[in-house]
Amino acid sequence: MSDTATLEEYFVSEDCIACDACCDEFPDIFKMNEDHTRAKAVSKAPQGKFNPWEIVTVCPVDAISLVNLPMPPKPEGMEDKKEEAAPAPGNNLNWEERWLKVAGQPEDQWERMKRYGMASSFSDDGDHYTLRFDMPSKVPNHKLKFKWGLPENMPPYSYEINQVNDKTIRVKAKIEDENIKRLTGWMNSFPSMFLKEVQLDHPIKDHKANYDEESHILTVTLNKA
Ligand code: SF4
Repeated sequence: MSDTATLEEYFVSEDCIACDACCDEFPDIFKMNEDHTRAKAVSKAPQGKFNPWEIVTVCPVDAISLVNLPMPPKPEGMEDKKEEAAPAPGNNLNWEERWLKVAGQPEDQWERMKRYGMASSFSDDGDHYTLRFDMPSKVPNHKLKFKWGLPENMPPYSYEINQVNDKTIRVKAKIEDENIKRLTGWMNSFPSMFLKEVQLDHPIKDHKANYDEESHILTVTLNKA
């Protein structure tokens, strides 16, 4: 009897925003490319090892698809399970009423850009460069934000600054609050992290960062060599 398992093949589309979620959650299947601009599927998954829905829904922008087999039916109660796993509601008094007041309102586009690390600026200031990120300050509106009693204001993201080489800096920022991170699985425009890589003209010797939690500004100073 053959023990060759059917393999599931996944594809990452150009919609990938290089958030790392699939590489972190399924490191045997996905790896980031060398430029850190797009994940790619590097191996196939034996059928049955994971539910394909777990894999495709890890992506905040729906960039992952199963390409060689049909998707199985969505697991019974998948949405309910996520919802049940939600935190004990905080202040969700009159949540439906409060949700209905904002439902359908257009999204603040600047706030949306912040969640992708795109609300940023860069300047050459003589002996150093300055990289500035306007960080998310509001938890985006969604029915579950109100139902789960999540706060209006976004708690600070954690961040890491890595000097890839003397002319490349990488900034990764992510949501640490587990309750808010859970909401990211329900919204396409709400990744749980962002990553930004900046190429510099001049080598740098060191850097320092400051996150002002009042103004939600992350400032990275890159001192030239
Ligand atoms: S989870 Fe989606 S957006 Fe994030 S790296 Fe993987 S494919 Fe790209």
